[in-house]
Formats: sequence, structure tokens, C-alpha cells
Amino acid sequence: MSTVASSVEVPAGLHLPIYMDNHATTAVDPRVLEAMMPYFTVKFGNAASRNHSFGWEAEQAVEAAREQIARLIGTTAKEIIFTSGATESNNLAIKGIAEMYRERGNHIITQVTEHKAVLDTCKRLEKHGYRVTYLPVKADGLIDLEDLKRAMDDKTILVTIMAANNEIGVLQPIAEIGKLCHEKNVLFHTDAVQAVGKVPIDVIADNIDVLSLSGHKIYGPKGVGALYVRRRNPRVQIAAQIDGGGHERGMRSGTLNVPGIVGLGKACEIAQQEMKAEAAHLTALRDRLKNKLESELDYVHVNGSMEHHLPGNLNMSFVYVEGESLLMGINDIAVSSGSACTSATLEPSYVLKALGLGDDVAHSSIRFGLGRFNTQVEVDYVAAKVIDVVKHLRQLSPLYEMVQDGIDLTKIQWAAH
Ligand SMILES: *Cc1c(COP(=O)(O)O)cnc(C)c1O
Repeated sequence: MSTVASSVEVPAGLHLPIYMDNHATTAVDPRVLEAMMPYFTVKFGNAASRNHSFGWEAEQAVEAAREQIARLIGTTAKEIIFTSGATESNNLAIKGIAEMYRERGNHIITQVTEHKAVLDTCKRLEKHGYRVTYLPVKADGLIDLEDLKRAMDDKTILVTIMAANNEIGVLQPIAEIGKLCHEKNVLFHTDAVQAVGKVPIDVIADNIDVLSLSGHKIYGPKGVGALYVRRRNPRVQIAAQIDGGGHERGMRSGTLNVPGIVGLGKACEIAQQEMKAEAAHLTALRDRLKNKLESELDYVHVNGSMEHHLPGNLNMSFVYVEGESLLMGINDIAVSSGSACTSATLEPSYVLKALGLGDDVAHSSIRFGLGRFNTQVEVDYVAAKVIDVVKHLRQLSPLYEMVQDGIDLTKIQWAAH
């Protein structure tokens, strides 16, 4: 592996490392933290305690948070269930519906670029006799609605398709998907973790029956999430996956994480108030980054439809650069790469592969996840740094040199053949 010494200047006052991985998690907004603090200390009651003011105070705070969340997605507080996060919400939605509607059918439809919390849940259900269709995506990351129509049959009970993808930021056509589901009497669940608070979501207009969201992707705390479960037209029933005291209308037992819930509520309130301005700000920063990279570098391309896209996401491939060297070169910037880096293996991202990217191009891809606290100074530094490192690495790349000399790499007979 080659390393490069970068000559990019760090402007005075710029703090390194720069965090640009806001799809992985976000910092807790100071206003959220402030709202949470009393519920760790003086207001520590159990929201299920009915006999004293400590319990009532906690319960009131939980109900206020339910309202804040409901308002953000266009529903009522009664339809919000608290969980430990979106992994649990996805498990509860999919397993809970599969179990409850087993008599009606055993077929579930999802798609290949879902989060693992959906894919692995579906895989487990396959072991228990359910049939799962994994729809492909087009090169732009979107599903084809015709594929969805064709996949539905009289045994289909659930369609689960994400609202926004966590790697490539594409927005699936959820309103149309929901409409198709409702025409066929099939329930529609969406993992909306990356979309909620970033783009408008309205469960009624978008025909959503069940929706997962998470605190720590929207400047709230980790370890708290919610599930929206529609109560009418249709009334959705979900079999509990955790049994206990019958909390959350029997769907999810366990003492409520009151400070976390207060934080999630506050995060939703802020998101609702600031979504429009924040989206404009993030889109401007994202486009600035994209334009700089595209104007200074050749052989780069954006992954995923830019037309149907989250404001803060930019996923780019830097062809003829070795992914690991690129990451090493920009190690003062926190981003994600197209390699799903687990302890032992360096697998290319299944999301990028689903778009048709080769392993090498997937490896040389970077996900920039811009968020509320990123600045233009940071964006300019990141752009300059990436440009500098990519140019250096390409000077060392025999492949890039051949391409520059006009050699068509696809026509070369490599010695190993
Ligand atoms: C982060 C994420 C999840 C998991 O949420 P947790 O609250 O961390 O369990 C699920 N789906 C998507 C799309 C995500 O980005």
C-alpha cells in the first residue's frame, strides 16, 4: 500500500479530525441534551409508576415526546411505540407482522439494498417457513415499481422498503409503493431512519402503515427509537417480540428509557422546525463538495440517483485509486468507505455491488455524510484534501497512466489469463 504526504493547508481555527459520517451516527444536539438532563437526576421516575408524582412526571414527559414524534411524521401520539432503536423497530415490525398475519399468508417483499436490520430479519423468517422476495435495484439505486407489482401475490402480507438508503442516500418512491400496497391489501413498512427529520414524511399521504425511526441519526441519543403503527384504515396488529409488563399497548414490554425518549422527542421537534432551512444548507454544502471534486478530478462518479436524494449525502467513486490508500491519505476526515470493514474481511459494500459496481470501484468509493454541524470551511478542506490525495495516488497508478495514454483497459489481455 502506498501512503502519501499531503500538502493541503489547514486553515486557522479548523478543528481536526472532521466528522463527515452523519449517516452512521450524529452528535447529540446541545438543545436535546439540555432537555434530557433533568430526567437523569431530579425527574428520575419510572413512567409506569402510578402512585406518585415521580411516575406522573416521567409519564407526562414520555407522552409529550410521543406528540413531538407523531407531529413530525403526520400521525397521532397513540400510534407511536418506543423501542431501543431502529434495529429493534425493524425486527418488531417485520417479525411482529409475519407472526400476526401468518394465517393470511407467508410472503414478504423487500429489496436488496435494505439495512442489515431488515435483510437479516427477513433471512431469519425464511428459516421459519416464510417466503421472501428481494427486489433488485436499477443502476441508480431505485426499485422498479413494475417489479414490485409483479412480485405481489395472494400470499403477500408485507412489503418492507426503506425510505432513504444509508449508503447512497437515494429516496425510494414510498408514496407510490404504499399506494400499490393499499390497492392490494398488503401492509407497508418502511425503515425511515435516514429520511425522518431530513425530508418530509407524512404517513397518511405516503400510505405508510408501519415506520421505523431512530434517535441517534437525527441528533438525538443512541439506544432509543420508535415504531409508528397505524391504528385505522387499516388497523395494524403486531405480535410482541419482547414479553413482560405489557408496556406500549402490549407491543413492547420493558421500563421506558425516559431520558432517551425525552431526547428523541426534542430531536424530532427541532427537526420539524428546522428541516427546510437545514436541507437547503446541506444541499448547498453537498453540491459545493461535489462540484469541487468533479471539476478537479477525472474518472469520478456519483453513486445513486441525484434526483431522488437525501440533502446531506454524497457517495462517490474514485476510479484508479486503491480504496485503502485513499482512506489512509484522508485519515483526518471521518467518512465511510465502500468497504464493509469487519474484523477479518474487507468485503465490498453490497449496496454498491447491487448498483452494478465492480469490487475495485466499490472499494474506492467514499460516503460523505454531511450533517447539522458541518461548515463550509470543513467542506473546502475535505475537497482540497481528497483532490490532493487522489492526484498523488493516481501518479503512482500504472492503470491510470495507461488510461491517460489512451489505452482501453477493457481490451487488454492480462498475463494471468
Ligand atoms: C442506523 C440505521 C438502522 C439501525 O438503527 P439503530 O437505531 O442504530 O439500531 C436501521 N436502518 C437504517 C437505514 C439505518 O441507517
